[in-house]
Amino acid sequence: MSVRVRFAPSPTGDLHVGGARTALFNWLLARKTGGIFVLRVEDTDGARNTAQASEGIIKGMKWLGLEWDEGPYYQSERKAIYDAYFARLEAAGRLYTEDNGAVRFKFSRTAITVHDLVCGDVTFAPTEEPDMTIRRPDGSYIFHFVNVVDDIEMRISHVIRGEDHLSNTWKHIDLFNAFGANPPTYAHIPLILNPDGTKMSKRDEGSAIEHSYMHAGYLSEAVFNYLCLLGWTPKSEHEKLSRTELVALFDPEAIHSSNAKFDLKKSLWFNAQYLREMTPAALLEAARPFLAAKGLTWTDDSTAAAALHSVREKINLLTELPEWTHYFFREDFPFEDDVRAKLTAKPENAALLRACAEKLSACEDATWSEQTVHDAVEAAARDASVKPGALMPLLRFSLSGQARGPGVTTIAHLIGREKTTTRIHRTLHEVLHASN
Ligand code: GLU
Repeated sequence: MSVRVRFAPSPTGDLHVGGARTALFNWLLARKTGGIFVLRVEDTDGARNTAQASEGIIKGMKWLGLEWDEGPYYQSERKAIYDAYFARLEAAGRLYTEDNGAVRFKFSRTAITVHDLVCGDVTFAPTEEPDMTIRRPDGSYIFHFVNVVDDIEMRISHVIRGEDHLSNTWKHIDLFNAFGANPPTYAHIPLILNPDGTKMSKRDEGSAIEHSYMHAGYLSEAVFNYLCLLGWTPKSEHEKLSRTELVALFDPEAIHSSNAKFDLKKSLWFNAQYLREMTPAALLEAARPFLAAKGLTWTDDSTAAAALHSVREKINLLTELPEWTHYFFREDFPFEDDVRAKLTAKPENAALLRACAEKLSACEDATWSEQTVHDAVEAAARDASVKPGALMPLLRFSLSGQARGPGVTTIAHLIGREKTTTRIHRTLHEVLHASN
């Protein structure tokens, strides 16, 4: 039997970590087995605006690379199918209508065992609950009914979903049996808890894919990788694994039955690891919206990419890039207060910077490199009888307005000879109020 799985979110707005991980595990199983991944929006609760509410879910899934093979199906558009299945239960004598117009399904009231890949066999004793309403007086169907009908209609072979559904699964199996259909194989996956052990809710830090990750400067690959580890330990020496490796390693039976703990620091660490390994071009692509949001523009992609790449080991999130690199993109960058104070602290700094500017402006554009910058600063230091180490910070302050950043020679090399000397003169004028 070929594997057919589905992600069946109720459209409640954004895609959250719990839902994303459910979608991801289903996707992994489909990709691992060459099966089909279906997206089904469970929107039978008419009170919600489905289009708007599923938009966030779809956006989040696309961002995570969880492309689906079929769907999205919207349950609100499938009433005719549910009516037909309803008629089958009616014909089988399993339904009765109450005075108030609601229709109930007669439970079989036998013991029901759920064979679960994660939780093992779970047997439910014959129920003493009242029979289950499956159709409301207004003709709409309730979740359990449409969920099972669609799993039959869509020939779903495996249901991977949150553990919160385990306690109701006997109701679903009772319905499958009533339709003479084989229930799918279940895998109920553990809850995701906050670091303090409370259940993670939609309001908790790190919970919404769009706001906590997409807009916060995470890379999709890093979030994908991190979410996989919430409740699953791939059999590998490393935790940092590509999508392809995760697909190859995925095994639903290896999903933990104990709850998973969310760890924001670890998710940041993953992101930092992924950022470090990006090529300059890929980093520029990922950074574009974050630079644009700060009004930073450029004409030469390769220099912009190299500038971003020069700070890749210093950041955890793409949103940190503008503050670390803005001076590569503009001449009117501000001087941080402590930088200003350090520059003005010693009267001899003006002469040292002037000496630097002279040596640097004497260099050739054609041979301008980190090495020429290094040699020029060394020569200026020698002439002034100071160590190059005394000049480098002054140069850094002048070229960036900051006290931290990539190597000074890297900055000078990337902005070019002309901007390097212009910036030193700007510092002399504006910060040191010295003449050139
Ligand atoms: N619509 C249900 C939910 O969002 C999904 C149930 C299931 O996966 O079977 O919790």
